[in-house]
Amino acid sequence: MPAPVSKQQIEKLEAIREKLKHDLVRLEEDVETAQQELAQEANKDDRIAEVAAMAVGRELDMSLESNIRLLLERVEDALEAIKAGNYGVCKSCGKKIPEERLEALPYAAMCVECQRRRETH
Ligand SMILES: [Zn+2]
Repeated sequence: MPAPVSKQQIEKLEAIREKLKHDLVRLEEDVETAQQELAQEANKDDRIAEVAAMAVGRELDMSLESNIRLLLERVEDALEAIKAGNYGVCKSCGKKIPEERLEALPYAAMCVECQRRRETH
């Protein structure tokens, strides 16, 4: 059985979740503004390079957004795992994730070895 999760750790995860949600909202606003600017630029036919540059910027926003969503998902998973009583257990090998790792990365779902194995394959 994994060690009980401290209140502090739960609060930490909840704080991360709130921050990510906030970031997501802000990012969506940014994307909206960029789209409006893009639409305005598209009306001027001599600004193709600039429009292209902005499209690239939008793509960056999109990947940033999917990163935040992914992270948010992992935080939600961790909070679910706390409720289910299996927080801090590696999803892949079922071993206990070291406390130092959870301290540094409260939403870690795998131990370092499994994470590394996944990344190299
Ligand atoms: Zn593992």
